Amino acid sequence: MDCIFCSIIKGEIPCHKIYEDERVLAFLDISNDVMGHTLVVPKTHVSDMHECSNEEFLYVLEKAKTLVGHFIKLGFDGANIVINCKPAAGQEVGHLHVHVIPRKKGDGAKLTMQPASEKFELCEIAKKLEVKD
Ligand code: 5GP
Ligand code: ZN
Repeated sequence: MDCIFCSIIKGEIPCHKIYEDERVLAFLDISNDVMGHTLVVPKTHVSDMHECSNEEFLYVLEKAKTLVGHFIKLGFDGANIVINCKPAAGQEVGHLHVHVIPRKKGDGAKLTMQPASEKFELCEIAKKLEVKD
């Protein structure tokens, strides 16, 4: 299977490592957008957060949280955690990854959603989406 993050984990493609343990690797995102933008990935291939077990997912998420603390200790003012699940949600690499994006006050990075052109009817949407079981 052709997976760029598996190739990075195997050392076939270089990366700038931030953290590693027996189950995860964290390395700088290649995008060069926000300084310190990091990806945390499980070493065992799984395509996305919907396909992995809760246990696998929570392990990766816990490491992402640890990195947030680490970045704040280093002097960052905050961080964004982003997880895209499936191509429709912007997932481009089909190997589960958590973006950890360290932030500085006034860094100008924008992760905000654009307002929709139509006005949502929140009562109807809540009725449709409510978890019933
Ligand atoms: P997604 O859109 O799937 O949530 O994010 C994938 C991320 O992987 C993107 O931010 C992209 O810049 C990053 N990326 C893609 N290929 C590589 C690579 O070869 N090396 C590194 N370090 N990051 C990559
Ligand atoms: Zn993979």
